[in-house]
Amino acid sequence: MSVKARMIDHIRAMFDRFGGEYYGEAATQRAHALQCAHFARQAGCPDSLIAAALLHDIGQFIDDSGAAAEKLNTDARHEISGAALLSRWFPLSVTEPVRLHVDAKRYLCVVEPGYAEGLSGASRLSLRLQGGPMTREEAAAFESGPFWEEAVRLRRFDDAGKQPDLVVPGLETYFPLLQALAEPGA
Ligand code: FE
Repeated sequence: MSVKARMIDHIRAMFDRFGGEYYGEAATQRAHALQCAHFARQAGCPDSLIAAALLHDIGQFIDDSGAAAEKLNTDARHEISGAALLSRWFPLSVTEPVRLHVDAKRYLCVVEPGYAEGLSGASRLSLRLQGGPMTREEAAAFESGPFWEEAVRLRRFDDAGKQPDLVVPGLETYFPLLQALAEPGA
């Protein structure tokens, strides 16, 4: 089996194992991921950002770490573990928005009035564990790095993609896009 085929198998298996979890949100993790990817596709985002939207929470599936905030009151840093896993197969244009999507939340809390109040309950709980809103200095530093705008775009899809009853295309519809993005040496 090719490496790209194994990548697809790996991702599918992670969704099969943990996609039914809620992790404090109104939608399952599978529905959340698929809604985020769907919104990115509808918005005309590049394939790399669609893939990032689809896979941004895959770190929650590693050792079921998405349950950490609710059950253990700790932050498992799923954005870091997720980006590290994805770096096996994908370029920075996929992994960096994933790695930065928590910072994007902390960033929006300081630059956008009312943003924090609009977050879901689970996102507000995790925000506290993730260090709370950025300072103005941290926000300025965030804006000076690469992929921050992609991370903010991803964050908008993340916040919107928590609808319990929205039906969107399935995981397998993204497999060709993921295979095309995977690096040749992956
Ligand atoms: Fe998310």
